Amino acid sequence: MSDLSSISIWREPDLKGLMAWYRAVADNRAPAKFRIAARIPAMVSLGASEADLWAELDAKTPVFLDLWRRIRGGEAELAAARQPEASLLDLCRELAYRMLAHCNFCRYDCGVDRSRSEKLGTCKLGADSRVSTYFHHFGEELVYRGRAGSGTIFFTSCNMRCAFCQNGDISTDKDNGRVVSPRTLATMAWLLRMEGCHNINWVGGDPTIHLHTIVDAVSQLEDLKPGEADLIAALPAKADHHFGFRINPRFGHYLGAFNAPMLWNSNFFMTGPAMKILRLLMDVWLPDFKFGPGRCAPLLSKTPFYWETVTGNLALLHEWGEELTIRHLVMPNHLECCTLPVLKWVAENMPDTPVNIMDQYHPDTFCDPASPKFNPKYRDLARRASREEIRQAFRYGAELGIRFEALSYEKNSTGLRL
Ligand code: SF4
Repeated sequence: MSDLSSISIWREPDLKGLMAWYRAVADNRAPAKFRIAARIPAMVSLGASEADLWAELDAKTPVFLDLWRRIRGGEAELAAARQPEASLLDLCRELAYRMLAHCNFCRYDCGVDRSRSEKLGTCKLGADSRVSTYFHHFGEELVYRGRAGSGTIFFTSCNMRCAFCQNGDISTDKDNGRVVSPRTLATMAWLLRMEGCHNINWVGGDPTIHLHTIVDAVSQLEDLKPGEADLIAALPAKADHHFGFRINPRFGHYLGAFNAPMLWNSNFFMTGPAMKILRLLMDVWLPDFKFGPGRCAPLLSKTPFYWETVTGNLALLHEWGEELTIRHLVMPNHLECCTLPVLKWVAENMPDTPVNIMDQYHPDTFCDPASPKFNPKYRDLARRASREEIRQAFRYGAELGIRFEALSYEKNSTGLRL
């Protein structure tokens, strides 16, 4: 695996000097955040009340942030050993399971006890998490795919219901893929990293609805040494396991233990408590910002509270000083209602954040006239965005001073420029 930082895209004006933490972890020059969280002691019994656990997380988050800042600045080093007793990472894991029992992972805040899998919420999931597939993804932005690919794990199911979903086969079929234990999931992440992937890319459907399994898997990664049984459980879902990627521990080690940047690739329809946990574990974020503040989110994805939830979470990332890039998919006939307000919001609230203005929309799921699932009420989405619409989206980006060119131009399929 070559260093991610050596790729020339980092010299583009849009990206210069940005995402230094993510690159350092990707190149194993710094420990991932989850490993720092494993060095902070949790001074509470993990059997305590949920309120007490949250109070401890709130108390220890500034301690974590201070240690992270000092490690970033070269003033501190990661202690060689994890906390022997409960750590902040263990606390995150415990809290994710407590949340599962009255599920408030996402803004639907269903309150159902998914741990018993008896009553289901909007996502229709119980306690199980299913992975559809995982592989070295060479279709992500260059800053994520690098030369060796982004280690992408695709979960089944979603909490949103986008009529045009570009991954409809896995997001609309909750039984797609195979059920994974947290250890099998950790093994998948381990394999991808030890084969050279630059990051572990948690995506779906949406990863938020699998928060408990993901946090549990992350909590196991540092000490994981997969055996034959682990590999037998993990390999069948790996789409590229016939390609013969070589495992080399050098690809994913820092201070002799597993290391990789964690990438949260999500619709960002999450709750504040989910954000608080992820803040301690994710090294870089990839929010999908789809709809404007009008009726498009409820009409096209049956999702209420979309604008306030997603902008609220983006504003939090900005306030926290996290590293991220935003994706916005240009939809046909939705420039004025969606593209323009989305880009305006970014320009007004987080103007330094790079944006990928994506041109690859194609009619899919319920918007594809060639599909038996086609619903005529989505006729305005039953075509690709025109060249003029894509150009207009780029024009908006340029007029608003958005950093979009480096990410959008290297990725766009039409080859269009302004
Ligand atoms: S993940 Fe979201 S949609 Fe699913 S049960 Fe929890 S709150 Fe409801």
